[in-house]
Amino acid sequence: MARISQETIDRIRHAADILDVISQYVNLKKRGRNYFGLCPFHHERTPSFSVAPEKEIYHCFGCGAGGSVFNFLMEHENLSFVESIQQLGRRYGIEVELTGDSGTKRLFTQLYEIHEMATNLYYKNLFSDRGKAALEYLINRGLSEKTIKTFRVGFAHESWDNLTETVRGEGFSRESIEKSGLFGKGKQGPVDRFRSRIMFPIMNRSNKVIAFGGRAFESDDPAKYMNSPETPLYHKSEVFYGYHKTAPDVRNENSAVLVEGYMDFLQMVQGGIQNVLAVSGTAFTDRHALQIGKITQKVYLMYDGDEAGKKAALRAGYSLLKNSIEALVVNVPENLDPDDWMRKDGVEVVREGISGALPLLKHHLQVTDAKNLPAVERSNFVKEILTEIAEIRDGIIRDDLLQTLANDLKINDQELIRQLKEVASRKRLPTQDEPPSTQTSLFTTVAQKAQVEILTTLVTSFREVKQLVNDHLDLISEPLLNKAASLLLNDNFDSTAAILEQFDDKVERENLTSILMDDKKADDPQSVIQECLITLKSQPIKDKIEQARLKMRELEAAGQDAGDIILEERQLRKQLLSISQNIGTDNQG
Ligand SMILES: [Zn+2]
Repeated sequence: MARISQETIDRIRHAADILDVISQYVNLKKRGRNYFGLCPFHHERTPSFSVAPEKEIYHCFGCGAGGSVFNFLMEHENLSFVESIQQLGRRYGIEVELTGDSGTKRLFTQLYEIHEMATNLYYKNLFSDRGKAALEYLINRGLSEKTIKTFRVGFAHESWDNLTETVRGEGFSRESIEKSGLFGKGKQGPVDRFRSRIMFPIMNRSNKVIAFGGRAFESDDPAKYMNSPETPLYHKSEVFYGYHKTAPDVRNENSAVLVEGYMDFLQMVQGGIQNVLAVSGTAFTDRHALQIGKITQKVYLMYDGDEAGKKAALRAGYSLLKNSIEALVVNVPENLDPDDWMRKDGVEVVREGISGALPLLKHHLQVTDAKNLPAVERSNFVKEILTEIAEIRDGIIRDDLLQTLANDLKINDQELIRQLKEVASRKRLPTQDEPPSTQTSLFTTVAQKAQVEILTTLVTSFREVKQLVNDHLDLISEPLLNKAASLLLNDNFDSTAAILEQFDDKVERENLTSILMDDKKADDPQSVIQECLITLKSQPIKDKIEQARLKMRELEAAGQDAGDIILEERQLRKQLLSISQNIGTDNQG
């Protein structure tokens, strides 16, 4: 099985601030040292889901869900542990190397190399004799040579083996060739997938080429655009074209202009609109929204001015709102795409268009002319919007939309809220209404409670009590608690979250999370631990004393001699008294 080093896991966990990640799904508000919000794992009206940023863990007091940031993604996105690490690794630009699996590492290295080789080849082609027409076309479309070079635009010849021949004999494995997505299957082996196309390399945030978008040029291929398929390097729904160049500008301006095409993107950047991003090779998804939410809370959708573009902009807009990102729609002139628009009217007009963009719902109401729809259609339209609104977790955004809807369509607020509830309840799965029973009360006996207290004190006062707990680890008899304490004492795991990740069993992990969430710091942790240890050592003796007394009473009732038992009981009580001294002595040693 693929493994990831603890060091990498810790690095990614620290980079991926748990608040940052969970905030993308849950609207969190600070209360004390922790943050609270509505639980995404069970239906509730008052927040019982909490995140403890210092410990890098989350826990729901309602349903018991809990763990580290990776566990959150595992549960929420239905990923494996390794996948959740890889996903956050990608998002935060940390390379995840799988150990015990050198084949995987080699595969990735080779995939990057193949893409780099292909980029160089296509680029060279564009500036060769055979690429002349393509280069002329790009220049005529208004791209400068500088833009072409900066973004390494290239050209794939009308050839089945141009790239195939280039990579032949370079030592790439068959697996790397197959998984690169740059080749198709021919009768005699791999053939070039991209032919007669202008090639736009798609880079990851470390500026490495991971895929291509290809635009048909002088060919009768019906597919105007063709993109690399999903590969180990290329996950379409997480990638924006141009991100490596423009993400800093998006951050600076605190807004992004989102376009659909490579040419749109290049034209904007060249024209001086720097905070632009393009989705590449797929429709906008929730994952895109998550990604973009890392760098801005405001997105201007500048999609093509045709029917398909308008529809796609609305879908993308609601997906952004669901992820608490403000969405505005730029009114691109009818039947132009942003690329044409820029060339036709110039950057100033486009800038005006951007600043005149309408908030998504206002735009939606306007393009549908909702006010003037016949009653039945208007009612259906409202239901359609409410279905979108029902999925928005951010209360402020939701209220804002309801207000707009009520004002613009002159509908009573209360009526809207009633309808929204109806829509929401229809969407909800019946099982989600009842929180699953939480098992925080798993440890109920005196001895179990003492073990729990040792663990929580160890977490909050590690330095002070480490030695003491280490000396008496055997007294923690509950397997779950013992494992957790041992891990806490192990130097390899440097955080509460790292410990939780060692528990594969969900119930175990959740029980432990609920315990570790409790962070009352003791005034005198040493004596708290001592008392717990005394309790644990005493408990079996107390049980024996109790049994001895029962036996004594039995014997006395039967008129028999209880002398031996009386002696035993006295011994036991002596033992009990010496325990507190023992624990105290150990402490000094
Ligand atoms: Zn919950």
